[in-house]
Amino acid sequence: MRAPGNGRGLLVVVSGPSGVGKGTVVDAAMARRTEAARRIRRSISVTTRKPRPGEREGVDYFFRSPKQFASMVRRGEMLEHAEYLGHQYGTPADWVDRQLEEGYDVVLEIEVKGAMQVRRRRPDAVLIYMLPPSWQALKRRLAGRRSEDEEVQQARLEVALQEKKQVHRYDYVIVNDRVSRAASKLLAILTAERARVSRMDTDRLLEWENG
Ligand code: 5GP
Repeated sequence: MRAPGNGRGLLVVVSGPSGVGKGTVVDAAMARRTEAARRIRRSISVTTRKPRPGEREGVDYFFRSPKQFASMVRRGEMLEHAEYLGHQYGTPADWVDRQLEEGYDVVLEIEVKGAMQVRRRRPDAVLIYMLPPSWQALKRRLAGRRSEDEEVQQARLEVALQEKKQVHRYDYVIVNDRVSRAASKLLAILTAERARVSRMDTDRLLEWENG
């Protein structure tokens, strides 16, 4: 099934500190009944970390051993991959490319090192950085995620503070102060990016004008 609308889909990267609510905002955007919302597909990453309670294989992640992960990388199956707090994470390229070909906008929720690989390999990708309304709010959200001990939470916060320095490498910033507002902004960015002349087949545009 092709996505509504014409042409190749957008490759969209959403980064931001752990606990900022990237997944929640993408879910909220996908739940809307607009054309832009129906065109979104979210990529499922491969990781070597263990599932958190409630996480499901093939829904949240593909959970793989370090050996399996390494052989995927060796076979060139990853669009990007990076280590985050001692575990490997990566995006399988094949699925992403098929969705783009079918006209879907594919969202990757990935950390900064992986985002920079995408930027180099796919210069037409759209990079969005999501920020919490404040760092206090982020700390509260992380603490509310009871699945992790304090040490891990602290490590995630430290990574977030390092990652934040790379925000100027992104195209857009969304502050997640309210999920519905952040979701609207995400959809607005996708709509605007779709309307870029540089993404259009200008010969076809001219034909339309003359015909
Ligand atoms: P978590 O363990 O909380 O699910 O994810 C940890 C970090 O890894 C988050 O910043 C998340 O966005 C990032 N991440 C998830 N999947 C991928 C991936 O496929 N590639 C990269 N580079 N980062 C990922």
